[in-house]
Amino acid sequence: MKYDRGSERKMYPIVCADCGKEAEVPFKPDSDRPVYCRDCYQKHRPQRDNY
Ligand SMILES: [Zn+2]
Repeated sequence: MKYDRGSERKMYPIVCADCGKEAEVPFKPDSDRPVYCRDCYQKHRPQRDNY
């Protein structure tokens, strides 16, 4: 069996700033900003409808 490392995405472990759950994100967490798991990211993503 052969593993293709090139297709493996680098994941960064984080603790969700909302639910406190451990998760992994495919980007480097920004220490200045809260990081959310995928579920909470859906809730916290920027909404520009009210501007
Ligand atoms: Zn969460």
